[in-house]
Amino acid sequence: MISSLLIANRGEIAVRIMRTARRLGIRTVAVYSEADVGALHVATADEAVCIGPSAPAESYLDIDAVLSAARNSRAAAIHPGYGFLSENAGFAEACQDSGIIFVGPTADAIRAMGDKAAAKTAMERAGVPLVPGYHGNDQSPKKLAGAAKKIGFPVLIKASAGGGGRGMRIVRTAAEFTEALDSARREAQGAFGDDRVILEKYLERPRHIEVQVFGDTHGNLVHLFERDCSLQRRYQKVIEEAPAPGMSEARRAAIGAVAIAAAKSIDYVGAGTVEFIVDAGEGGADGPFYFMEMNTRLQVEHPVTEMITGYDLVEWQLRVASGEPLPASQGEIVQDGHAVEARLYAEDPARDFLPAAGRLVHLSWPDGEGVRIDTGIRDGDTIAVEYDPLIAKVIAHGPDRKTALRRLHGAMSDMELVGPVTNQAFLAAALDHPDFVAGDIDTNFIGEHLVALVPPVQPADDATITAALAFLLDERGVTRTPSAGDANSPWQATDGWRPNLPAREHVILRDGELEFAIDLVNGGEGWQANLPDRADPVPLGPLPDGVGVYRDGHTLIVVNGARQHRLAHVVPLAEVDRGEGAGGGLTAPMPGKVVQAMVAAGDKVVRGQTVMILEAMKMEHAISAPADGTVADVYFAAGDQVDEGAELLRLAKDDD
Ligand code: ADP
Repeated sequence: MISSLLIANRGEIAVRIMRTARRLGIRTVAVYSEADVGALHVATADEAVCIGPSAPAESYLDIDAVLSAARNSRAAAIHPGYGFLSENAGFAEACQDSGIIFVGPTADAIRAMGDKAAAKTAMERAGVPLVPGYHGNDQSPKKLAGAAKKIGFPVLIKASAGGGGRGMRIVRTAAEFTEALDSARREAQGAFGDDRVILEKYLERPRHIEVQVFGDTHGNLVHLFERDCSLQRRYQKVIEEAPAPGMSEARRAAIGAVAIAAAKSIDYVGAGTVEFIVDAGEGGADGPFYFMEMNTRLQVEHPVTEMITGYDLVEWQLRVASGEPLPASQGEIVQDGHAVEARLYAEDPARDFLPAAGRLVHLSWPDGEGVRIDTGIRDGDTIAVEYDPLIAKVIAHGPDRKTALRRLHGAMSDMELVGPVTNQAFLAAALDHPDFVAGDIDTNFIGEHLVALVPPVQPADDATITAALAFLLDERGVTRTPSAGDANSPWQATDGWRPNLPAREHVILRDGELEFAIDLVNGGEGWQANLPDRADPVPLGPLPDGVGVYRDGHTLIVVNGARQHRLAHVVPLAEVDRGEGAGGGLTAPMPGKVVQAMVAAGDKVVRGQTVMILEAMKMEHAISAPADGTVADVYFAAGDQVDEGAELLRLAKDDD
């Protein structure tokens, strides 16, 4: 067995590989970029080597840097994980040339499958069924347009060198073809430096079903059943499961045999995945299936296979890389129950799944029965903008699909994750959707159910606002309403300090486009808030059970069960009086973006009134009028970028 292993990756997969290596008594070496100095994978490894700045091209993708880290740490082998260098044939070769074992297939096998056109040509020869299409060398627009017509619309254009759904275009009519081809080529050239394309018949009701295969250096090749990855968004997997719902045993055996034939045709060694597209419109999981591509690495969703087979696929990889035979024969590999995985991302479903970044101010994982969490993130860690915003893979196993789904849904609802916006509620909604629960799925599922899965954002309700206000008072050490007879209540702990009564506070909270300016008053009866649209003041008592408030910079995150609401606490900047002598100009204290201009030329303002809100360093800052006066001019509008020192607006003071 290998004695030492460098993991050329980061995040959850690096941590997950180390877990197995450690169990097998293998010394682990992490590599990291400057952005990852404090990351979990660095802390988990026996040794860690910094390989460059945060940009992936200068660190995790830098072959020389990774290899020199391996040599300096005397690592016997390198595990590339997924992504980064995992499907880079040149890297596999460079490892070999340096006398380091590459945990993966040969460079030739990576090359054979790395190009969609070449892979299809090879698979055609091996008798593997292909989607009707074109993958020839003649790339002239005329030839391609003719081929598209022959295939019959709708047609899917794919980048030959593609991955991650980039360079893919659906073309529904001949008239749209040329334009779609041009745009697919531009995207492919930009993303892969290669603008060749292939064409496929576009299936309207496709299911993505893939087969896990494994080969060793002794000529053994097995499959470990299929995974259904049909829940996708923009061709990217979101929820994966094993086995495929509704697949018959006969089909399972057939698709497994084809996957093995595909792998055998290139003498495959190590872990690989043969991806098929199934025409679910004609027979669900048992509809006609076609080879799509083969991924020559460990797949993100491998845990569902581990949970239904009981094998550790990373252990298999390390054994195979050490020259050992596969730990089990085809006949010994059996399925037990059902497993489902959901990819938890820092992204905002309500804003078209825009990636989010930032610090996790509170994190607590669920530990329900059959639940597994693969993560590279701890409480207090920051999701960096440089990398994939995956927070964790949450996987649940159960004796049957219903139980596995229920357990995963339970885990999704129980986890406490406060900080950047995540897709947690979206995943919970998908797992609970009656069509998904019924196994009625294809790759259109998420797109077609988006409205149900991403409910519209509701403005903060009174309970949310009062929770935020109570938190702010607490933070300042201001006593809230003492409830009589509750001497041990933390709200009683005044430390001998009493405010001068009556006391007043003024708080500004922003909720997206809305702004609430709220007066808090304590006339001796405890604090009360005058909420907008409420006639009577509302007392601010202790937070109800199940409600928590967390601060992230100037953002207050009010957590109520699985719901989270973000409110910006707008803090008036120290009154800006620079430039006043020159007639009342207000300048930007830092570079930023104008969120809102509250006033227009001619408006009367009073001292302290918020006239503009700037967003800078991910926080909102209120610009307030330094004196009573009249607005003479406003130089910027919402959305404008402003430089530090830029004059924002001009006031004519009343006494001028
Ligand atoms: P990439 O390598 O860019 O990820 P794939 O070829 O693996 O691209 O396809 C990604 C996804 O696109 C598939 O999982 C499936 O959802 C969809 N897809 C691919 N080919 C077809 C097709 N012929 N018809 C319909 N959908 C397809």
